Amino acid sequence: MRTIPGKITAHTGLLGVIGYPVEHSLSPLMHNAALQAQGLDMVYLAFSVQPFHLGAAIAGARALGVRGLNVTVPHKEAILGLLDGLDDLAARVGAVNTVVNEDGRLVGHNTDVVGFLEALETSVRGGASGRRFLVAGAGGAARAVVAGLCREGASQVWLYNRTEERSQALCRVARGWGPTECRVASAPMLREIATCVDVIVNATSVGMGETVKSTPIPVDIVDSRHVVFDLVYGPRPTALIAHARAQGAVAMDGKEMLLRQAASSYELWTGREAPVEVMRIAIESVGS
Ligand code: NAP
Repeated sequence: MRTIPGKITAHTGLLGVIGYPVEHSLSPLMHNAALQAQGLDMVYLAFSVQPFHLGAAIAGARALGVRGLNVTVPHKEAILGLLDGLDDLAARVGAVNTVVNEDGRLVGHNTDVVGFLEALETSVRGGASGRRFLVAGAGGAARAVVAGLCREGASQVWLYNRTEERSQALCRVARGWGPTECRVASAPMLREIATCVDVIVNATSVGMGETVKSTPIPVDIVDSRHVVFDLVYGPRPTALIAHARAQGAVAMDGKEMLLRQAASSYELWTGREAPVEVMRIAIESVGS
């Protein structure tokens, strides 16, 4: 790897993120700041890829020798069958957020799991072990959250999702992931469940886009005993975070997780320890 900070040459390696939409992504800021700080001859770009173009995009990445990709909404699950291999965690979660080009083989990983767990530890001393959780969502992010909670030995996970069949399906899978007791919550049960959980996680996309003023659960079930972790990271504060803080709860949004999953992806691509503080400054400089 040559070290020509900031200069693009015929040797420059290409990294990027694919998603749709992707214009809001903070990943190029974080990764380019890190690459420059470490003098690595690579650039990181964002590619808006519509779902019907995903297969062509992956074939193109393989043909062009792209070094690595992040994968975001809505491609994290659809990409599984297009890759040459998956690591164990991505296979278990059933979602990929990072692709590494290993000598022409595109291998899928999931760094959302470690990103979530590392971020959780910054607010919950001792992490997930032995704790009780209410998780809203049943998409790719929720699968990563629940896989992480099961791996770390959470004692109980209640899963609540708009489409209950999806939370039931995730719960069934999660029961094979370890001794964590996983149960499905319906809307009328939420108030009572809240009285016996330690941490409430929003792993839905509620709080961004058209739902920016909405919350995934009724906010009056949150109280000062809870830690509230909203995977949504902007605009800041999300409605859920604002309400949780008003109730006296400890609340964190998804920026720390974003940073930690990015650091882990960076390490897979470069083999170097990520300059986390450089990456943090890059995203903290953005308003929300
Ligand atoms: P996804 O697979 O598309 O799943 C979306 C989830 O949100 C589903 O559970 C869906 O419920 C629910 N949902 C969407 N709109 C809703 C609404 N109006 N009311 C109630 N529920 C609704 O997306 P994902 O990959 O899991 O991502 C979810 C969120 O996590 C996104 O905001 C993403 O940006 C965030 N995330 C953050 C990080 C980070 O590093 N901070 C990492 C990963 C993901 P249904 O099943 O009923 O459709």
